[in-house]
Amino acid sequence: MNRWCAGLLSVLLVAVVGCTTTPATKQGAGQLAIVGVTVVNPERDGAEATMADATVVISGERIVSVGPRASTSVPTGATRLDGKGKWLIPGMIDGHVHFFQSGNLYTRPDGADFNAVVPYAQETARNKARLPATFKVWLASGVTSVIDIGGPFWNFDMRDIADKTAAAPRVEVAGPLISMVDRVKLDLGDPPIIKIESPEAARALVARELERKPDFIKVWFIHQPGDDMAKQEAIVRAAGDAAHAAHLRLAVHATELDVAKASLRAGADYLVHSVFEEPVDDEFIALMRKNHALLCPTLFVRNGYAYTLSNRWQATPEEQRLADPQILAAMHDLDKMPKDKIPPRIAKLIADKPPINAPTVAEQNLKKLWDAGIPIVMGTDAGNVGTLHGPSVFREMALMHDAGLTPLQVLRSATTNGAKAMGRDDLGAIAPGKLADLVLLDADPLADVGNLSHAERVIKGGVVYDPKALIDSIR
Ligand SMILES: [Zn+2]
Repeated sequence: MNRWCAGLLSVLLVAVVGCTTTPATKQGAGQLAIVGVTVVNPERDGAEATMADATVVISGERIVSVGPRASTSVPTGATRLDGKGKWLIPGMIDGHVHFFQSGNLYTRPDGADFNAVVPYAQETARNKARLPATFKVWLASGVTSVIDIGGPFWNFDMRDIADKTAAAPRVEVAGPLISMVDRVKLDLGDPPIIKIESPEAARALVARELERKPDFIKVWFIHQPGDDMAKQEAIVRAAGDAAHAAHLRLAVHATELDVAKASLRAGADYLVHSVFEEPVDDEFIALMRKNHALLCPTLFVRNGYAYTLSNRWQATPEEQRLADPQILAAMHDLDKMPKDKIPPRIAKLIADKPPINAPTVAEQNLKKLWDAGIPIVMGTDAGNVGTLHGPSVFREMALMHDAGLTPLQVLRSATTNGAKAMGRDDLGAIAPGKLADLVLLDADPLADVGNLSHAERVIKGGVVYDPKALIDSIR
């Protein structure tokens, strides 16, 4: 099967689709060797970060050997993939996505209400039905694992579907967000965000979520003027204690410095955004260290809203190539929308075109935290308006590089540290025993982060995919 996938798929697109829908388990006895490739080890520094002219042997879904081509034997009958002039990285991990959202204009009516154009019920039904395509855009982008860090109870069904789908990333999930605020426009009977007003209510919601075996418990810590911070912190602590008692980690959305510190005092293990408007300080870093907490900066997501809602969103070349064509086609719906259907706030944004600035403070915080040794996880918050599933990782990683991280550090955040966020030691590195989740690039990712978008093949669990064929299969 691998011979078909690797050799003939690029010319036989029909066969590609057949191959890519074959469950990984049927590959069982299959052996694959990537020969003469430069292996990238994002967990290492200096000369150890690469091994030139190497051979990687995969048996079934796992890597069995990695070594110099001259001394690493290729098993008889194994399919050979020529790695000469190419680079092999671990499959990337996006530490912050939401499958209940599509990235289009209609996906967050609580922020921009286009129900008059596309009813939210229609949008959520579309997102559910489109799941196989959404999974494929992730794989096509070289992302072989994602963390869906909060959504409706349906999220648990989504994880089951991903587990049974070969052409899908590995998925970890949180259930509904334990929130300080209501979002009634998102409540169609299975709300992604649930307002919680006491520690007892937080414990009760965690208990309901535990029945579905979440990978994280997530709190949406929104602190508005006049809110009682101590009371809110007690709710977060109750959720955190209940999560920790079940051996789960507590993920928290907290974007202001005092709120982020309160989250850490309450037990947060994973901050799913940066602090956006203020510099982080020594107390914050000390709290991060005390909790062994990870942080996912999500540098692009706010500007995704700003570009889209002022009708200035433009697809990058990577998005043109790798995003869901259905979503791309809808990103300029404001061009043709009847004026009376455009909410006044959005009409004003389109008319005024307010300046959209780089996330400078968050970038400075990222650099400061990285230099302090805090583990940084690459994540996009994909699904939010203007942040598309899949290729938005390339926007995010470009901003991380702008913030001062080297390409190797950016890649480490997207692999080694992503695996840490998932709590898995079988992902995020190219070594014997690890799952064979890999991306074969035709350009050097350590010379330019942009080269991370140059996937020629994406391998998940030992099964080889052609990114172009994955996208062609969902057109
Ligand atoms: Zn999010």
